Amino acid sequence: MAHDPARCPGCADPAAAFGPHDHAHCATDVLARAEMLAGAAGARLTPVRRRVLEILLESHRALGAYDVLNRLAAEGYGNQPPVAYRALEFLEEHGFVHRIRRLNAFAACMHPGEAHAPVFLICRACQSVAEAPGAPVRAALDAAAGAMGFAIERLTVEALGLCPACAEGAA
Ligand SMILES: [Zn+2]
Ligand SMILES: [Zn+2]
Ligand SMILES: [Zn+2]
Repeated sequence: MAHDPARCPGCADPAAAFGPHDHAHCATDVLARAEMLAGAAGARLTPVRRRVLEILLESHRALGAYDVLNRLAAEGYGNQPPVAYRALEFLEEHGFVHRIRRLNAFAACMHPGEAHAPVFLICRACQSVAEAPGAPVRAALDAAAGAMGFAIERLTVEALGLCPACAEGAA
């Protein structure tokens, strides 16, 4: 099935990450794209790398390396930390996962293969992560920095807060 961004909730609308949607569609679609991109880059989504990506794609939640390792161990992939770390490193290098520094965790990228520098919206209650377009934020910061003669080279924006579901629960 060809990818149609307009029909993919995870692609069409960053807010979908926080709302009820057909997440199986996000997961299947992203996994297929990752598979294709890895092949095009001459890299291989080995069973363990693929499984780590699948685990991260189970929801929009970020998971720590330790959580990933526990899952791998439970599924018989062995309990050696380097197995999980190396797989996560590979996936991050190829843009299939994002490192969420605020949580010291990883979240599957919903837009693999697209050049993007998202603003990460992180729910502090459920660890869900959404990728919002980062261009307007970047432009504003470039202007502010430029006024001070500063050239921004790298920028990661992580916003911590509450997703709609958790905000409702807390109200
Ligand atoms: Zn989804
Ligand atoms: Zn992304
Ligand atoms: Zn939440």
